[in-house]
Amino acid sequence: MESSAPDALAYDRSHLWHPYASPLNPPPVFLAERAHDTQIVLADGTELTDAVSSWWCVAHGHNHPHITKAIQRQSEALSHVMFGGFTHRPAIELARRIAQLTPEGLDSIFFADSGSISVEVATKMAVQYQYALGYPNRNRLLALRGGYHGDTAGAMALSDPDGMHKLFAGLIPRHFFADAPTQCPLRSEWNESAFDSIRTTLEAHRDEIAAVICEPVFQAANAMWFYHPNYLRRMRELCDEHGILLIFDEIAAGFYRTGPLWAHARSGISPDIICIGKALTGGHLTLAATATSHRIAKTISNGFPGAFMHGPTYMANPLACAAGIASLDLFAGSDYTASVRRIEQQLQTGLAPLRSLPNVTAVRVLGAVGIVEVASPPRAEDVRSVILDHGIWLRPFGNFIYTMPPLVTPPETIGKIIAAIADAAALPPGPPVPADGFHE
Ligand code: PMP
Repeated sequence: MESSAPDALAYDRSHLWHPYASPLNPPPVFLAERAHDTQIVLADGTELTDAVSSWWCVAHGHNHPHITKAIQRQSEALSHVMFGGFTHRPAIELARRIAQLTPEGLDSIFFADSGSISVEVATKMAVQYQYALGYPNRNRLLALRGGYHGDTAGAMALSDPDGMHKLFAGLIPRHFFADAPTQCPLRSEWNESAFDSIRTTLEAHRDEIAAVICEPVFQAANAMWFYHPNYLRRMRELCDEHGILLIFDEIAAGFYRTGPLWAHARSGISPDIICIGKALTGGHLTLAATATSHRIAKTISNGFPGAFMHGPTYMANPLACAAGIASLDLFAGSDYTASVRRIEQQLQTGLAPLRSLPNVTAVRVLGAVGIVEVASPPRAEDVRSVILDHGIWLRPFGNFIYTMPPLVTPPETIGKIIAAIADAAALPPGPPVPADGFHE
């Protein structure tokens, strides 16, 4: 028999670990029972608007019938089969669709279970590629400060070294880091000197670097920062000059989040490897993909050991692939660029006045991303009570109170989200918090 809501929450509190939370003294959580459109329905019937797309993946709204039906249909035929020795139509069809969307011939697709794993796979592809070409010492990556690529060891190692993963410094592989692209904001005149740090670091260590990795244009979970696409053009030139691969992590920014299908489209150049995830299944099942070119795939195959050395148990799970196909149907079926432009305009107009609040240091909007940066964060419980009064679910982190709503959020709901953010940003600063803050 199902336990009562208080009993279920009490069990959760004493037995379950939640993300970025103390297992012994966890912050409060809501008991979610159902969800639809932009709404999460709690055990007591309260509805909260999901203003962060459940960590940026619920692009089409929760429990979209086209996606849930596709999962149901697939579950009646084939829920899982090992991908070693078998293939199946959902994987083949989804790979075909992804290949049509990814840039310039990146049509060799590896399915991964999560965004972090797709970054690990991209890293291993780059190192194995250089190894096959006869550069075994090219086994480190160059990443950007202010970046975030996931929580597994390999992905943490590529995220900002001064962020919350700092305590794992002894565990993780050592990579090279260039300065964060803070000196070349998006929508400002290009500042060539902003590229000096990465150029100098790459040139000093070119014999040890297999690839450069970044979140193109939008540094999300660490810095909440938008930077100039010329930075990516320069990266492309530099990598080509030295035979180093370029990896774009579009896990957060892809699928129209910043306006175009891919955030890097603003630069007009393409990476050698791209990681996609989150909105790939519209937030219905966990799935990510790493796509590269046939040239790179061929080089990896020709070198020792003649195979790519990665193969997780749930690789290309058929249910997740069916959800992915249905999600891509929805992206193809309506004009997401237009709906994101509408959200962008509304966020721009609605959040701009917050610049005059005493604790607000910056307001940044791009696509369906609205960020209010504060000098010092208000108390979490105060933010929680203010946003709940509006029926809005947000999850601020560090100095950022932000929204990344489902891309289908209607104007009146965006209006409510703006009102909730405005009230949260007007709260007085709370007591000082540890400098590392939280990551999403
Ligand atoms: N890369 C980026 C840019 C991300 O934002 C995230 C997650 N926030 C990840 C990788 C990791 O994805 P996942 O949580 O699915 O492992």
